[in-house]
Amino acid sequence: MRADTPVQYLKGVGPKTAEKFARLGVATVEDLLGLYPRRYVDYSNPAPVAAAPFDTDTVVKAAVYSKRGAVRLPGGRTMVQVLAGDDSAGLSLTWFNTHFAADSLQVGEEYFFEGRVRGTLTRREMTNPTVRTPAQVEKTPLAPVYPQTEGLGSGQIARCVARALEEAEPLEEILPPEFLTRFKLPGRWQALQDIHRPASMAAAAAARRRLVFDELFTLQLGLGLLRSRGAAKASAVMEPADLGPFWSSLPFSPTGAQRRAAGEICGDMTKTAPMNRLLQGDVGSGKTLVAAAAVYTAYKNGWQSALMAPTEILAAQHAETLHKLLGSFGVRVALLTGGMKAAARRTALAAIAAGEADLVVGTHAVIGEGVQFKALGLAVVDEQHRFGVRQRGLLAGKAAQPHVLVMSATPIPRTLALLVYGDLDISVLDELPPGRKAIKTYAVGGEKRKAMYGFLEKQIAAGRQVYIVCPLVEESEGQNTEELAAVTTYYTEVAKALLPGRRVGLMHGRLKAKEKAAVMEDFKAGRLDALVSTTVIEVGVDVPGATVMVIENAERYGLSALHQLRGRVGRGAAESFCILVSDHPGEGVRDRLRFLCSTQDGFAIAKYDLEHRGPGDFFGDRQHGLPTLQLASLTTDTRTLAAAHASAAELLEADPALTAPEHRALAGQVQRLFGRTTFN
Ligand code: ADP
Ligand code: MG
Repeated sequence: MRADTPVQYLKGVGPKTAEKFARLGVATVEDLLGLYPRRYVDYSNPAPVAAAPFDTDTVVKAAVYSKRGAVRLPGGRTMVQVLAGDDSAGLSLTWFNTHFAADSLQVGEEYFFEGRVRGTLTRREMTNPTVRTPAQVEKTPLAPVYPQTEGLGSGQIARCVARALEEAEPLEEILPPEFLTRFKLPGRWQALQDIHRPASMAAAAAARRRLVFDELFTLQLGLGLLRSRGAAKASAVMEPADLGPFWSSLPFSPTGAQRRAAGEICGDMTKTAPMNRLLQGDVGSGKTLVAAAAVYTAYKNGWQSALMAPTEILAAQHAETLHKLLGSFGVRVALLTGGMKAAARRTALAAIAAGEADLVVGTHAVIGEGVQFKALGLAVVDEQHRFGVRQRGLLAGKAAQPHVLVMSATPIPRTLALLVYGDLDISVLDELPPGRKAIKTYAVGGEKRKAMYGFLEKQIAAGRQVYIVCPLVEESEGQNTEELAAVTTYYTEVAKALLPGRRVGLMHGRLKAKEKAAVMEDFKAGRLDALVSTTVIEVGVDVPGATVMVIENAERYGLSALHQLRGRVGRGAAESFCILVSDHPGEGVRDRLRFLCSTQDGFAIAKYDLEHRGPGDFFGDRQHGLPTLQLASLTTDTRTLAAAHASAAELLEADPALTAPEHRALAGQVQRLFGRTTFN
């Protein structure tokens, strides 16, 4: 069986399971083999029953003494009980609602049981343990545990992967052979075998090292290819512009950090090489103003600017803000979004092509086909983490040589950013505008919802506005009808019901652009007291009259995302609040939410997310616009990252476009990692 065979052709994988895999992005056998275990359960060293620690996952080996048939409990649950034990103690095993494991047990035989031991010192028990036979343990002493998701259990994934390993032809080696010796790495096929079914922890570790190298190496190759495309081009030629008139036109004074960042950016724009700079600043640090200063400089030099924002709401808001900031200097702002009427779009496109728009603000539409700039000199990408490298590249590609400024609220340590973004320079806004008050943050359970709505009612009565966020659908992604139904139901049955007589609005990604704009306009103008919304409002929205942010199912978000959402309030003079609602029982979840309640420091929050949830969430696709890494951690695998960085540079030196026949398989992996990014 070839590696590119769809998973449903594997024995034991039906269309239903294949569909679940598809939701995880697993289409082929090769994809499936790239679904790595999170950890292993070591069956090779079982604890004596009497010595098994309480309440931690443990493996014990015990003989079965007796079995009882399934009994039906009041309430419809079934229960099966088995008595077992070893020389040290007896063990009572109970399964609820499943009898398959118990059915397979033979009285008098020994088995391995994995689970939590509870009970007393003399009477030990386990509930719903996983059972493995000595033969199974002999074959795979370290059982892989996969992240269970999309309705796929770890055991089910393990079975499918094992099948794939047996039936698939060995995958082609992608690394140059001398890399294997230089970095002491196992071959690719061996590594895949060992990551899924290691004979020892050492084998698993070696396999991981190899696969981490692969990921980081292909990542660096892809970034290298993207970069070399831009390097050859010269920049739009600009003279320094005096920012004095711009600063003094503002109703407030810029912070020192804003002045410094604007200075660095405008300095770059007057160099011969194109600017390639990242502006990093916590939520509310005033990045828009810095972007405006850059646009001002480009305008004074006779160049057009483009600003790309991730949502239509944000694009509309930016267009308005930038018009206010720059209109008096003669800057003509055009808005370009996907949802525009054909006629309006034609007018905008004509103005852009004729150079009658000095600044074009929009969503992806800005990089769409048919958008022709007369003289694009500056491209700004807001909330950079929401865009992929691909979009960034496309925007830069709209002109031969624009300066590029990307802005992000996600703090990434500097050394890491250099490796990840390559030759991107970095400016940091490490100072908030004066007068910001801390946002009081609380985590509550769903049983407090009624009381919470009482509080919302009081805030509204005092003339304030509130946001209520329900998890869901993103504007640009595949939209899930079930979730849409959930937010609509919440809107009518919870929010409207608990705020009788108040004006409650509903915002979600399915609304037409015009409807979204109307809802947002109503909220901004104070014609709505509360706005029930999906995360389409996550980034950048600025409504100073809003003082409360409620986030339902808060456990579903990473802390950085919650912090972004929280940043929507606390923008005016009044005291602001953020209420995180979650019924999730997990201790980890509680701890995370409590942590968020204790701090407003975006950097500390990102760090906590990194340490506690792992890189998958923090450095997930959405966060930095890079491809998702399965295994590698950009924070702990830094040595491998450095090695991969150097090796990629070396390889590209010899084969700049990665077209040599011996690099074909490697080029294929780079394409796979970057999805449909085009490199030329
Ligand atoms: P972010 O960095 O999150 O994009 P914004 O650019 O949206 O932040 O700015 C947040 C708010 O702070 C806006 O209402 C903006 O007008 C205001 N603001 C920005 N700079 C200053 C400043 N120097 N003094 C006072 N308010 C400022
Ligand atoms: Mg912003």
